[in-house]
Amino acid sequence: MAVATGLDEARFDELGQWFRGELLRPGDLGYDQGRQLWNAMFDKRPEVVAMCTGAADVIDAVNFAREQGLRVAVRGGGHSVAGLGSLDGGMMINLSRMDGVHVDRKAGTVRVEGGATWGDVDRETQAFGLVAPGGIVSDTGVAGLTLGGGLGWVRGKYGLSCDNLLSAEVVTAEGELLTASATENADLYWGLRGGGGNFGIVTSFEFGLHPLGPTVMVALPIYPLEEAPSILRGWRDFMRSAPDEVTSHAGIWTFPGEPPGLPPEAVGRDVIFTAAVYAGAVEEGERVLGPLRELGAPIVDISSPMPFRALQSSFDPFFGVKGTVRAYWKSLYLTELSDAAIDVIARRALARPTPWTSFNIPFFGGAVTRVGAQETAFGPRWPFMVSIDANSVDDTVSDEELKRWTREFWAELQQFSAEGAYLNFVGEEEQGMEEIVKLAYGANYERLRELKRKYDPHNFFRINQNVAP
Ligand code: FAD
Repeated sequence: MAVATGLDEARFDELGQWFRGELLRPGDLGYDQGRQLWNAMFDKRPEVVAMCTGAADVIDAVNFAREQGLRVAVRGGGHSVAGLGSLDGGMMINLSRMDGVHVDRKAGTVRVEGGATWGDVDRETQAFGLVAPGGIVSDTGVAGLTLGGGLGWVRGKYGLSCDNLLSAEVVTAEGELLTASATENADLYWGLRGGGGNFGIVTSFEFGLHPLGPTVMVALPIYPLEEAPSILRGWRDFMRSAPDEVTSHAGIWTFPGEPPGLPPEAVGRDVIFTAAVYAGAVEEGERVLGPLRELGAPIVDISSPMPFRALQSSFDPFFGVKGTVRAYWKSLYLTELSDAAIDVIARRALARPTPWTSFNIPFFGGAVTRVGAQETAFGPRWPFMVSIDANSVDDTVSDEELKRWTREFWAELQQFSAEGAYLNFVGEEEQGMEEIVKLAYGANYERLRELKRKYDPHNFFRINQNVAP
């Protein structure tokens, strides 16, 4: 085993005696896999990767790191666009082996371990025709996504993932396991619903479940990108009066060759699509979603009923294979998707730095916007969002160029912007996260600071979208 400098080896061996998971160091088999993140911009090398298998491992890892003065990064699903699940030196606390999911059908709840992915959750819940609102990609972590809000295919009807969180088990910086719910540590429960990994390591989440599917109606007409101005206007007008059952986002992209089942007419073309799901009866969904398929002349229309679980992994190819995509994303909210904003988006769409760069424009209304800005830590909620996802799978464009292009576009959209930012769609900021974190939380920022002073006064959990105490 490689010996790292600065670690108390005797104390490290002691940690290893009880640890049920693995403690990996540079050179160990499994170290490179353990430290891997989704975003290939980050190739970080922790001194120790602690592959935990339960709350006891997490507690021991936290106590060890604190005593040794090691910096700590926490990895759930590893999808942080800013690469916050790992670090150079220090200890990565990796929860990916904690992926247990247990549905309580009587109670209508699901208990999910802190390293599970949404694919793990959908597998168990959909077996009973139930859903816990998650994201749209199967290997995104439940933890990071929920702690940062969480938008997926049923948000119109059931809200964000964090709105469906009933309780959480959290290991604090002092190595204590706390329960946070509406009746226990209610201030922490408030902070976890949007406040990120600032207050501790969540070892398990409890969500409320809703009936869904297992088959749902999905609309996916794919239009030529040149028609973006009229398609986006039509989509906006439709969404403004759509029932809560409809969840939709407009997307701009160039489909590479890989996605299975995609007709050849759509491959390699710059396109705009209006993807939507109906959380209700399939026949009703087919009728209600009909107008989205007639916004123009589609290149192809692959709308159809499909098992919700299949839908939940059908967008996976959009985001490439873990560790191969270099990504820099930025997001903003809009009170209204005005014609002027649409014109800027449509113009920029024609000059993206790479074909893999996508714009994701979710409608954020329905149940999402019925939760008040101060009810959870998440902050203000507005009806539209634009996420600029600059991605590259080769070396033709540098990281700097991806960042420069995204920032320039984001700055141009600021004239239409509402207060706030969606932190789950934010890449690394060289000058630090403070500015964007303040912007995102708005009036909730000071309350989050108070909570940080109570639960993590020494800012032990700082490699995240940090709220300094
Ligand atoms: P990680 O990198 O493991 O962690 C992210 C942050 O959460 C880090 O700060 C980490 O320290 C902290 N954290 C992780 N686990 C824990 C824990 N158990 N306890 C405390 N803190 C923890 N977002 C959406 O809302 N909807 C989507 O559909 C969606 N799709 C995405 C698809 C892709 C391909 C990618 C890359 C991102 C997507 N996102 C989506 C954004 C995603 O929600 C965030 O990147 C989120 O932070 C990922 O969580 P994770 O656990 O996978 O990431």
